[in-house]
Amino acid sequence: MHKKLFIPGPTEVAPDVLQKMATPMIGHRSKEASALQKDISEKMRKVFHTANPILLSTSSGSGLMEGSIRSLTAKRAAVFSVGAFGNRWFKMAEANNVGADKFESEWGKATTPEMVDKALATGKYDVFTVTHNETSTGIMNPVEEIAEVRKKYPDVLWLVDAVSSMAGAKIEVDKLGIDVCITSTQKALALPPGMAICSVTPKALEHGKQVKHRGWYLDILEIYKYVETKDYQYSATPSLSHMFAMNYQLDRILAEGLENRYARHKAMAEYTRAWAKQNFALYPEEQHASVTLTTITNTRNISVKALNDALGKEWMQISNGYGDLKEKTFRIAHMGELNMDDVKQVIAAIDRILPTLK
Ligand SMILES: *Cc1c(COP(=O)(O)O)cnc(C)c1O
Repeated sequence: MHKKLFIPGPTEVAPDVLQKMATPMIGHRSKEASALQKDISEKMRKVFHTANPILLSTSSGSGLMEGSIRSLTAKRAAVFSVGAFGNRWFKMAEANNVGADKFESEWGKATTPEMVDKALATGKYDVFTVTHNETSTGIMNPVEEIAEVRKKYPDVLWLVDAVSSMAGAKIEVDKLGIDVCITSTQKALALPPGMAICSVTPKALEHGKQVKHRGWYLDILEIYKYVETKDYQYSATPSLSHMFAMNYQLDRILAEGLENRYARHKAMAEYTRAWAKQNFALYPEEQHASVTLTTITNTRNISVKALNDALGKEWMQISNGYGDLKEKTFRIAHMGELNMDDVKQVIAAIDRILPTLK
């Protein structure tokens, strides 16, 4: 028995996928390693809705967030933040001596196209970043609307944190014009934590050449160089175990069908949201509520810890609020492998437990 995870990462991993992590090793400079990475890239392009190159990084998603803002910002980055992970991207810029300005929305609210338009119109920026799905506040930003205003600034690179939404929500990377779209293994892709994935446009790769100190391990251009010139290899030794599992999991995801997968996530979100509104309140503005997790305002002042302890006895776990929101909110993630029965199971358990909490 293990606790079923309704937390926004790591998420449940199917037993057969987990098993693939135990595949015997191959040389990372072998033809098999190239074939494996190429296979993954082709399948991942479908998930990302892109024809652009796919890069893998043996780091969690934060690695590619840091690597992309550092190696692609030549002038200055506009960082749009709607919560903890947007703020993290800004901290990364500062920590790497990358000039950046933060445009933070009131928590629970989205990044608006007007905000993006206003900032980019200054001409100060060559890069801007947006969090697609903010896992602290439960906001899913309106990237389609942002993509519209961005058309006025085609030369400004657009970096997107889709760590907790890619493969759970439809993100049409090419149609939207996203230059770098980043995700992690341990969220809606439902793999163990330890690798990050991104797509990258030729424009971004060209632009990065102007940046003198790009770092090395997480330099987007360096990672791409091995894909391009070494036939789908990797600058350092990658986590081959993750790659075996990823290749297999992508087959499972594509077999489910991407549209079916998005519909499954949407249905779980709608169910959870309806329950949340009846029993507590939604933390994010509803029109921008996430489909992969629901952040719920703790209007009844329950002990989230006591609730989770009780759920733990039934082999389930939800998440408390993130950072400053710790006891003010709690979060139910409904992403990856979870289905409607799982969500009904955890909500029924919470309904049973609530009256027993003081
Ligand atoms: C989890 C998360 C991250 C950090 O990803 P790691 O893989 O833990 O580095 C970044 N952004 C968002 C929105 C996340 O949910």
